[in-house]
Amino acid sequence: MSDAILTVENLHVSYGQVNAVRDVSIRVPTGSVTALVGANGAGKTSILSAVSGLVRPKSGTITYKGAEVTRRPAHAMVKSGLVLVPEGREILSTLSIAENLSLGGWHRRRNLTANVENMYERFPVLAERRKLPAGSLSGGEQQMLAIARALIAEPEVLLLDEPSMGLAPKIVDQVFEVIEQIRTDGTTVVLVEQNARRALAAADFGYVIETGEITHSGPADELLADEAIIEAYLGLD
Ligand code: ATP
Repeated sequence: MSDAILTVENLHVSYGQVNAVRDVSIRVPTGSVTALVGANGAGKTSILSAVSGLVRPKSGTITYKGAEVTRRPAHAMVKSGLVLVPEGREILSTLSIAENLSLGGWHRRRNLTANVENMYERFPVLAERRKLPAGSLSGGEQQMLAIARALIAEPEVLLLDEPSMGLAPKIVDQVFEVIEQIRTDGTTVVLVEQNARRALAAADFGYVIETGEITHSGPADELLADEAIIEAYLGLD
């Protein structure tokens, strides 16, 4: 079995009385795409928030590149190569596309110009409109900008929270093509999606999460082939 770049063991996340994540353990092999799927409110975003240092877990252990990082703050996680593309994209809509991209490199000036140029090559629509406010982009283009901004940080692990949310089917196809390219480039991807079939089809491993707990996990193709799982969890896509 390949090495895991990221592991989560017995994670609990609470917001006051709400136990959003209960005893979740996840293993993300280096270079894999790992999908976390489940309904709205299942706790998927809370897992990513804990991993990326945005919320403090109540208990549990997060290990990244062999070191325990359970309470490492978000900015330090980004510096060590773990980068989140948040749900809703969090584009700064009044800033230009170029300015949004530069923010992705706030922590490392090195390579910034080259990395931005790389993203312009990869996403020509961003290049053409680089001086325009990011808010002028369509939803799909904003998602590409959010992903490009994260890639400028040179992630070793990219966490994507609902990248296909609210996008037209053709644009969803493009987002998944980009995810495939990112994996081909050697970056490990953790993909959170309500669009479970699509996410599992793109993934190597999958975890089904229901009301804060993992109900099923395994190779993504096995989860997709399991009639009972499809019916119980994935049938409503
Ligand atoms: P979504 O797709 O809607 O983001 P999710 O699977 O990512 O769903 P979470 O956002 O992690 O789920 O939410 C899990 C539970 O925690 C939900 O019951 C939610 O209402 C609750 N929750 C999330 N964030 C907070 C918060 N900041 N304060 C209080 N409760 C929260």
